[in-house]
Amino acid sequence: MTIDTQKIIEIDRQNVFHASTHLKQHAHGESPARIITGAQGIRIQDSLGNQFIDGFAGLYCVNIGYGRNEMAEAIYEQAKQLAYYHTYVGHTTEGMATLSERIVTLAGQGMSKVYYGMSGSDANETQLKLVWYYNNILGRKEKKKVISRDRGYHGSSIASGSMTGLPVFHAHFDLPLERIKHTVAPVYYRRPDDAMSELEFSRYCAQKLEEMILAEGPDTVAAMIGEPVLGTGGIVPPPQGYWAEIRKVLDKYDILLIADEVVCGFGRLGVDFGSQYYEMKPDLITVAKGLTSAYQPLSGVIVGERVWQVLEQGTDTYGAIGHGYTYSGHPMGIAAAIANLDIIERENLTGNARDTGAYLQQRMQQTFAEHPLVGEVRGIGLLAALEFSSDRSKRQHFDPNLKVGPMVSAACLEEGLIARAMPHGDILGFAPPLVVTRGEVDDIVARAERAVNKVTDKLI
Ligand code: PLP
Repeated sequence: MTIDTQKIIEIDRQNVFHASTHLKQHAHGESPARIITGAQGIRIQDSLGNQFIDGFAGLYCVNIGYGRNEMAEAIYEQAKQLAYYHTYVGHTTEGMATLSERIVTLAGQGMSKVYYGMSGSDANETQLKLVWYYNNILGRKEKKKVISRDRGYHGSSIASGSMTGLPVFHAHFDLPLERIKHTVAPVYYRRPDDAMSELEFSRYCAQKLEEMILAEGPDTVAAMIGEPVLGTGGIVPPPQGYWAEIRKVLDKYDILLIADEVVCGFGRLGVDFGSQYYEMKPDLITVAKGLTSAYQPLSGVIVGERVWQVLEQGTDTYGAIGHGYTYSGHPMGIAAAIANLDIIERENLTGNARDTGAYLQQRMQQTFAEHPLVGEVRGIGLLAALEFSSDRSKRQHFDPNLKVGPMVSAACLEEGLIARAMPHGDILGFAPPLVVTRGEVDDIVARAERAVNKVTDKLI
């Protein structure tokens, strides 16, 4: 079926309020728009017949790739059998019970129960409420602050947007909330002293965290939240020993740790969960994206035993917990999650993320490590980034007005490749679906190289 591209885009410009978009330019036809009409495997297609390799799996979420009939069938069957029922006052479905058992087992690390939402943002909103509730039950009325990191990303609602550590999500929205604080980002590339080893830098980050806890008052700090690997803030794996150093400080002051696994969870790093790989020992885990590969919106808050025991105690005192969404545990989302986890397991996509991911990292290093425009090549599993620099030896930033990241991303698009200009700094992100093959990795890297060279010719 062909559609009238111009007409649909005009209707869109007149009627749609887009996420993360220059509203005026879009509404007035001054910025590009694209209609996505279909997708298969790692490729998407637009209404003009252009094909792109989706090197970012949507928003690092379509992990099993596009166009899976098995997913469509699971969702269809569920819609016929039971499209909806709520999960309040103990109502359940077979799917929700068995999926939860599976998630708790996969997550390990003393996890106990799963609460479902629809997005990463609302799951992190739930996390904050649970942390407050937990400390109220324990009679620690002042222990309510949450420490996040600069450049962390946890969503864009009121609480999750506050926990996000990117200025564009705060400015002019009266965020962050007062109880949310931000400590230094564990970005070794931006270490304060060139001579620092990775481990020294990790200790420096832990020391900064401890200084913040002491300045705020340990009795006022309830939790810390962090992504195992910084995602939207620039795709930055933590420096050596980082999470162990952080965990020591948190333990000292009885502070909970929330691992935001929205990007890392369910295989992207080549392991089930990033928190396992980095030995974060979290008390709470947030999942979304890879849980359903975005075939349905579904998120989860995985509650560890230590927190769960206290929540149970709370309902002894206060009665049923005052938290719930109409769509918590939505059967269509649950059906999608089960079919998605089946595919990940059957096709060993976590293993592929480890093996083909290692190949991606190797190809990226070979191609870009010495490139004059590239300051750093980094990543783990099927998560990779290039950070551009005007002077590699000094790790200097380009003038932000040049918008080098978006320039390279646009050049990639001309090469038929979607790679994401990350919102902070001149960083190009890669997070292909976990089904990507070595041949496709070669293709992605070759296209990216042509794009980076094109921009280099313009700039240097
Ligand atoms: N947490 C992390 C680590 C994320 O990367 C994201 C989204 O990119 C979120 C939370 C928010 O998820 P959502 O956009 O589904 O609200």
